[in-house]
Amino acid sequence: MKKVLITGAAGFLGSHLCDRFIKEGYHVVAMDNFITGDKKNIEHLMGLEHFEFVAHDVTNFIEIRGKLDYILHFASPASPIDYLKIPIQTLKVGALGTHNLLGLAKAKNARMLIASTSEVYGDPLVHPQTEDYYGNVNTIGPRGVYDEAKRFQESITMAYHRFHGLETRIVRIFNTYGPRMRLNDGRVIPAFIGQALRGEDLTVFGDGSQTRSFCYVDDQVEGIYRLLLSDYSNPVNIGNPYEITIKDFAEEIIKLTGTHQKIVYKELPQDDPLQRQPDITLAKKILNWEPKVNRAEGMKITYDYFKSLSEEELNKSDH
Ligand code: NAD
Ligand code: UDP
Repeated sequence: MKKVLITGAAGFLGSHLCDRFIKEGYHVVAMDNFITGDKKNIEHLMGLEHFEFVAHDVTNFIEIRGKLDYILHFASPASPIDYLKIPIQTLKVGALGTHNLLGLAKAKNARMLIASTSEVYGDPLVHPQTEDYYGNVNTIGPRGVYDEAKRFQESITMAYHRFHGLETRIVRIFNTYGPRMRLNDGRVIPAFIGQALRGEDLTVFGDGSQTRSFCYVDDQVEGIYRLLLSDYSNPVNIGNPYEITIKDFAEEIIKLTGTHQKIVYKELPQDDPLQRQPDITLAKKILNWEPKVNRAEGMKITYDYFKSLSEEELNKSDH
């Protein structure tokens, strides 16, 4: 039986990856320190014979007994308000955490996949973004803590690959959504749906002309799974190329939720990328992957999930 370590396992993507690897018949070691995650996301897996949970901060030395075939490093704050609130931890988990995990991968001769991001392209001057674009990141801006941690993460991963011959994979994840996102994590989908459910106005930042392209979580997990098992070690974009402005998206949410609230405009956060759309030609070619779930379907499932949360969770102002 193959054994996989998943860091950030109590988070949104990590918990869905745990589900997938359990389903595929792996032994899953799940690791998290709950800084932005939630035990509830993996509660249903606790007690399974081939699932073990380790509460640990990956920026500290990591010890795993026995063999390890794969490591998926997903631990990191991922929402702008999270990484603005905990900037040092964000830098540490991308840098020290990745270094620890690469050391572990080397010791165990395991293949390691890291969760990189479209944020390595910063506020992109090339559109849509292809993997060979170097990006446009403000290193010292407030988002720099996340973007640069992820860029360092890619560099150190390639160094371990080239210098130590480690098997590595790099996925550049574009905005992904679905059940188990934290309602108050500040990302646009939980933000808008939470506002609609609480009967508040929807807050569009800036004039809402900035674009994003939203990928449903099952598609993202499929892309990651295929990349891990592929033999491709350079970065690969995984995301849904269907692009929309944030203003149009707010209007879609108003229709979806039937809320009678309106859109209100707030200041655009510093360095908020003005456009984002993945070019997925490479993923199509080498992984034979493309997204299958359209936004209407994915948003319906996501809205049903948020609707099922308790009143108390809905009104929690923060994590
Ligand atoms: P999330 O906040 O839901 O999950 C992150 C998890 O990592 C949390 O459970 C948190 O407690 C854990 N964590 C953070 N620091 C840790 C540490 N030092 N030690 C152990 N655990 C730690 O976020 P997510 O959306 O699931 O993102 C997961 C990964 O995917 C992140 O690396 C993120 O950068 C990347 N990513 C996500 C998206 C997206 O759209 N969801 C986009 C690009 C990249
Ligand atoms: N956004 C918004 N209102 C909100 C939250 C976010 O208009 O309440 C905008 C944000 O400024 C950005 C986009 O929605 O342009 C996506 O933001 P998110 O935090 O989800 O992810 P990002 O892609 O910026 O990391």
